[in-house]
Formats: sequence, structure tokens, C-alpha cells
Amino acid sequence: MKGLKGKNVLVTGASSGIGQAIAVRFAQEGANVAINYRKSPEDAKETEEMVENACGEIRGCGVENILIQADVSKEEDVVKMVATVVEKFGSLDILINNAGIQTEGAAHEIKIEDFDKVISVNLRGAYICAREAIKHFLSCPDSGVIINISSVHEVIPKPQYIAYSVSKGGMENLTRSLALEYASHNIRVNAIAPGATITPINKSWINDPKGKAEVESNIPMGRAGTSEEMAAAVAFLCSDEAAYITGQTLFIDGGLTLYPSFREPWSS
Ligand code: NAD
Repeated sequence: MKGLKGKNVLVTGASSGIGQAIAVRFAQEGANVAINYRKSPEDAKETEEMVENACGEIRGCGVENILIQADVSKEEDVVKMVATVVEKFGSLDILINNAGIQTEGAAHEIKIEDFDKVISVNLRGAYICAREAIKHFLSCPDSGVIINISSVHEVIPKPQYIAYSVSKGGMENLTRSLALEYASHNIRVNAIAPGATITPINKSWINDPKGKAEVESNIPMGRAGTSEEMAAAVAFLCSDEAAYITGQTLFIDGGLTLYPSFREPWSS
């Protein structure tokens, strides 16, 4: 895709799922990829191998990848992570705020520590990463791009997952406010909002044919999405093809946000 070759990209939570697919997609586009993992480099080994394979042919042209540890909910980790990426690659052009977690439980019973944990990774973590990236972008002639990985639960309420729902709702204004504040510096900030996607976060149903069928029966297109479909949209939003797009959330959900219960008329 136009404008991605040779770019320096940092993907948070890239050990698995959507983050892994995004890292691989950027490698296929000829970008240098910093693969963030939370705890052990072993967790990111699979992504590293996939990225190496994806960029094998262009490696000779100077494409580089690094594994980088950081818990995005810890300010000191994030500051160090962004500084290390800039030092190793020479600059940072694109930040993908992908790391995310969720906890389940009735809203009136959730422990405040569990609520705080989800917000501190999904929303506060995304903000700290954006803040550090923007500080760097402001010193770069070509500025930069941020993509927040939000969710359809940015707009669809999610009972039993109050912290997740609140974090993704907040992500909409994180995206829009940063986009407005930095538009004049040629820093673009957008989000994608995946619908139900086949990744480890959905382990409760992806390998259970009955559970999967139940989930997919609620999706107008009749199937869950793939991480690669999410990565394709991210690549587009980061490319020069999207040079005039900022402050937007692109919903990639097989029609899940189209009020599926209105498929059949039930009200005159
Ligand atoms: P996943 O569990 O495979 O990926 C989440 C990643 O975040 C993991 O690699 C995990 O190690 C990492 N992570 C968690 N806490 C972290 C921390 N403190 N610091 C750094 N990394 C951390 O699940 P996924 O589905 O690939 O999720 C990726 C993003 O996509 C999340 O933000 C999630 O909310 C969003 N999303 C997923 C779906 C879906 O159906 N799979 C739908 C909508 C949005």
C-alpha cells in the first residue's frame, strides 16, 4: 500500500490475535516493525517468526524488526519503549494502540481493582503510548499516524463487561480529541472498531462450534471476522491513500452495528 515501505511502526500487544496480524501486514508492506509484548519475549516468538517470514525477501533491502517489552499500563515502561524504538530505528512513524484486555462480571459486583486494570491497559495505556509517540512526531518533518484498536463496543453497550465498554467508549474521544489537537501538525489519529473476530480474547467461543454458531447468528454477514481483515484496514488508514482521513473510527464488523434485529420488519 502506498507510503508504508520503510516506515517505522510500533504495535502494542503484538504477541497474538489482531496485533500479530497487524505486525505481519506491516512487514509484508516493507515496514520496520517493533513488536511489543507484555511479559516474556517467548510470548512474542510466534509473531517474530511470522514477521521474519513475511519480510524475508525484502530483508536484504534493510528492513528491521525488534521485540520490545512493555506493560502499556506502566508509564515508565511506555516512555522507555518509545525511546528504545526511536533509538533502534532512528525514528517512529506509526503507532498502533492494540493492547487490550477484558473482565467479565455484573457491573454491581466488579472489584474496583479489576475495573481499574481494564481502563489502565485499554484507555490509559493507549493515551500514554500516544503521548510519547506525539512528542516524537512533533520533532519529525513528516509527522506521524496513530491507530487505536477500539471495538464495536465503542457504541454498542456490553452488559457484563462494564470496564471494557467504558474503555472503548473513551477511546472514541481519545481518537477524536487527539486528531483535532494535532491535525495542523500533520499527525493523523484514527481508530478501527472490530466486531467479533477470531482471536484468543474470544477463546470462550472460537473453538466451540455451538458457541461460534450462536455468535455468528447475530452478525448480518453470518460470520466472525479475521485478524487479517482488521490488519488490512489498519494498513489502509496508515497509508498515503488515507492521507486526508483523521479523527474517524472505521467499523469492521460484518454489519454488527447496523441494528441486526431490524433485518425483519417488526414495527410499522
Ligand atoms: P488478544 O488477547 O489476542 O490480544 C491482546 C494483546 O494485548 C495480547 O497479545 C496481550 O498480551 C496484550 N496485552 C494485554 N495487556 C497488555 C499490557 N498491559 N501491555 C502490553 N500488552 C498487553 O486479543 P485480540 O482480539 O487480538 O485483541 C486486540 C485488540 O482488539 C484489543 O484492544 C481488543 O479489545 C480489540 N478487539 C478485539 C475484538 C475481537 O473480537 N477479537 C473485537 C473488538 C476489539
